Amino acid sequence: MNHAHTTPAPQVAIVTGASRGIGAEIARQLGKKGYAVVVNYAGNATEAQNVVDAIVAGQGKAIAVQADVADSGAVNALFEQTIAAFGRVDVLINNAGIMPPHLPMLADTDDATFDRLVAVNLKGSFNTMRAAAVHLQQGGRIVNFSSSLTGTRLPGYSVYVAAKAAIEAMTNIFAKELRGKRIAVNAVAPGPTATALFFDGKTPEAIERLARMAPLERLGTPDDIARAVTFLAAPDGWVNGQTLRANGGLV
Ligand code: NDP
Repeated sequence: MNHAHTTPAPQVAIVTGASRGIGAEIARQLGKKGYAVVVNYAGNATEAQNVVDAIVAGQGKAIAVQADVADSGAVNALFEQTIAAFGRVDVLINNAGIMPPHLPMLADTDDATFDRLVAVNLKGSFNTMRAAAVHLQQGGRIVNFSSSLTGTRLPGYSVYVAAKAAIEAMTNIFAKELRGKRIAVNAVAPGPTATALFFDGKTPEAIERLARMAPLERLGTPDDIARAVTFLAAPDGWVNGQTLRANGGLV
């Protein structure tokens, strides 16, 4: 008999913004792969609980934890609640993000819009990465969220893209700063993906036009993006400090 293959302790993953959209699908896929999953959300407790229930129904482990990622105190509490429930943190998926419909041109962007985009989309991931530097297990994995808009740079997205481009830079630098811990830090940069964040405020014609822009001529699905994320979240991967565009060839 070979006694070398003892069952490893379950890996624990925090997925921010996992009540809906891409994050919910990442949580479900990690749950199926055997991770204990923390389904973080901002306001939609019922939808977060539905994601938890789906994972538990599939014999997985999951809990829902409310925390606004823009609030560093709430993020620290998110890590503490994760450790209280599951004993450790191995994987951090920084999926939470906002893109309000009808983003104005730079000249018409008010202070509140700028501040909230940066608070959630940039400081939110900063807050969780800083906590992860303390709490993540050796050999852990971090996956951040950029956007393929950092490549297309369409008018109207200057502040959103500025925050996402900063995430790409932080991803690469943080990977270097974690030398010695065997932790890899990468980012995914989705193209247009079929979620509320993308559909809200767009006409059917605008959606059709954006869907046709990629040479694969369709919108991405949460499953498309979650598969790229779970690839980067797998233990022992050699990809580190990179941003992977998952966009059907858009840019
Ligand atoms: P959705 O709007 O569908 O879902 C957003 C999720 O983030 C929800 O679970 C929401 O929670 C949560 N959330 C929002 N603000 C906060 C906050 N302050 N703290 C904690 N959680 C928060 O978005 P998508 O699934 O489309 O987007 C996921 C990521 O992908 C984002 O980072 C986005 O920028 C990026 N992206 C998306 C693209 C797309 O076309 N969809 C393209 C490129 C990038 P609650 O339900 O409680 O509100």
